[in-house]
Amino acid sequence: MICDELQGELDALQRDGLKRIRRTLELPCGPLARVDGRSLISFCSNDYLGLANDPALVAAACAGARNWGVGSGASHLVSGHLGPHAVLEEQLATFTGFDRCLLFSTGYMANLGIVPALVGRGDAVFADRLNHASLIDAVQLSRADSQRYPHADLAALERLLAASTARRRLILTDAVFSMDGDLAPLPGLLMLAERYDAWLVVDDAHGFGVLGAQGRGSISHFGLPANPRLICMGTLGKAAGAAGAFVAANATVIEWLAQRARSYVFTTAGSPLIACALATSLELIAAGDARRAHLRQLVAQLRDGLADTRWRLLASPTAIQPVIVGDNHATVRLAAALYERGLWVPAIRPPTVPNGTARLRVSLSAAHGEAQVAELVSALRELACA
Ligand SMILES: *Cc1c(COP(=O)(O)O)cnc(C)c1O
Repeated sequence: MICDELQGELDALQRDGLKRIRRTLELPCGPLARVDGRSLISFCSNDYLGLANDPALVAAACAGARNWGVGSGASHLVSGHLGPHAVLEEQLATFTGFDRCLLFSTGYMANLGIVPALVGRGDAVFADRLNHASLIDAVQLSRADSQRYPHADLAALERLLAASTARRRLILTDAVFSMDGDLAPLPGLLMLAERYDAWLVVDDAHGFGVLGAQGRGSISHFGLPANPRLICMGTLGKAAGAAGAFVAANATVIEWLAQRARSYVFTTAGSPLIACALATSLELIAAGDARRAHLRQLVAQLRDGLADTRWRLLASPTAIQPVIVGDNHATVRLAAALYERGLWVPAIRPPTVPNGTARLRVSLSAAHGEAQVAELVSALRELACA
């Protein structure tokens, strides 16, 4: 029986400390969560600016629903591309400083669409070893030759590029690595893209809204000038507080993606009410220097608070602050001990991270207060001595 086989594999996950549990939240996304009637301070979400339940976004979504309904009714190329989608694409292009933008339903779908539209058999993709799962899947789907370089290692990447005889080359990287929180060396990557005639595709899921002037993202953070080799994907379900994703690039690349990215062509356009909410979200992001300053302060507070403990924090300057534990079971026990104290921090285990690097992934948000971070610091300090 096929179900018996699956049950056996599920039992093995449980035994190896790899079984995930799904909790149902009884309150909207925010620093305070309630699960099974229990109150918890949550350090789990990617809602870095605290916009997911912001009253201005909620009002924009309600007005959007009244004016445009709920569903788009079709894919973008048929009849689902409504006014709010067009407006949002324009606003995103202006904000990110690219020629043109294209909306996708999710970041996962955007990545699955971009890579196979740009490269195929006979081409080569050069990918950072710690890239997000969606980028790894995208490369497989493309059938291009996949070459993974050690994390952020420009010299290793250059050797691979120099040896490549592929027809087309594409460098693929997270801008902010989703499980480590560190930044890719984007200026060096762009230089190599120029030197070896390659494209550079940057996944800015965790940088958009948080890094750079007015939250314009990682490319702005590094001050990279406009460049036709550069293609940037940003998600709209994290700092932007809603859902969806966009690709920003040179106008020719965007037109090609609109024609050929299968996850764009063969799917229903996102809800217009979300596009309306996102227009407001962009305004809040642009005006969000105070939120970003507060977030940076919380990051410093957490790092300073744990500096003299045995907890090993990765060198992350972003809202993603992983505490490396190593062993899967020990990580799960630590997360459980925090949970008992009313602090919810996810335990991240393989295959999401490499074997032996299981960790707590603390996500901070501008919606957190200093007292909430202080509570996490004091619990972790206590558990460091346990
Ligand atoms: C979350 C994430 C995605 C996927 O974006 P969704 O909009 O959630 O599908 C892609 N890349 C990275 C690096 C991410 O962290």
